[in-house]
Amino acid sequence: MAELTIKSYSNPVLRKKSEEIKEITPEIKRLALDMVETMVKNKGLGLAAPQVGISKRIVAVLLAEGPKIFINPKITKKEKETEIAEEGCLCFPNLFLDIKRAKSVAIKAIDVEGKEMEFFVDGLTARIFQHEIDHLNGILFFDKISFWQRLKLRKKLKNP
Ligand code: ZN
Repeated sequence: MAELTIKSYSNPVLRKKSEEIKEITPEIKRLALDMVETMVKNKGLGLAAPQVGISKRIVAVLLAEGPKIFINPKITKKEKETEIAEEGCLCFPNLFLDIKRAKSVAIKAIDVEGKEMEFFVDGLTARIFQHEIDHLNGILFFDKISFWQRLKLRKKLKNP
């Protein structure tokens, strides 16, 4: 396993829509292990492949039982009820923003063995999945705040 380099928020790879994974090759399995290591070492709760410069639909999420990999994750249902809570992102060190997210979501994904799964998550775990799946679509948590909040932040961030 190797720790990967986390890209900074201004890196264009973070704005690309990631590619679907068609086959779980040994390279994908290795990437999965490296992503878990990178997430744990950086004390992240989640990590999406674009954050380490790889435009593929794979995310690592820290669950209560430990870190787990999800390939081609998709939100299949979103509860209308929302919740605002503070979020961080490994691409934006020391930036924490209040972000509104659905309270619970249904996720469909495959694991590293190619097994399909579908499940409901809520609270913090639902928030992590929404944040990481946004990364796969080129969306950053920074995009979710108001124009005025962003303008204020521009002073703190050099090149948002
Ligand atoms: Zn992030």
